[in-house]
Amino acid sequence: MAVQKVVTYGHKALREVCTDITDFSKVDGLINDLFDTMYEFDGIGLACNQIGINKRIFVVDLTHTEECDSPLVFMNGTIEKESGSCVDSEGCLSLPEIRINVERFDTITYSYVDENFEKCTKEFSGLLATVIQHENDHLDGKLITDYATPADLLKYDKALKLMKSNNVK
Ligand SMILES: [Zn+2]
Repeated sequence: MAVQKVVTYGHKALREVCTDITDFSKVDGLINDLFDTMYEFDGIGLACNQIGINKRIFVVDLTHTEECDSPLVFMNGTIEKESGSCVDSEGCLSLPEIRINVERFDTITYSYVDENFEKCTKEFSGLLATVIQHENDHLDGKLITDYATPADLLKYDKALKLMKSNNVK
């Protein structure tokens, strides 16, 4: 178990489409690292490519809200159904200090493998649905800046350029 480095905007891992986990026997350490890292940086969700590994897994903890009473693991997930819409201001551990209004589906049906390595298909709504869509986007190489308006991009131009330059090797 260890806290990992969270990669930031401009790092190529964030633009990679993650691949399904095929060997679930080796995933425990990765799950622990994701939780340790998410808690260290006070996140509510963390996708695997945010720690530089392009596997289709993310973790979520909304136990501080009434949305769910235990931390959640989502592996090899896909959105099956979606409906409604809502807009909320979102942040991201890979984009510190940046907030972007993102329109999401209000309700989604998500198929995935859970923390007990069981296949599930469940309907989610509210904040949990938003967080799942945010993290699922990460696994497809998509970031909240992809939803940014020209005004957002202007506002954060300096911060984004700085992050990008720090990631140029
Ligand atoms: Zn994020």
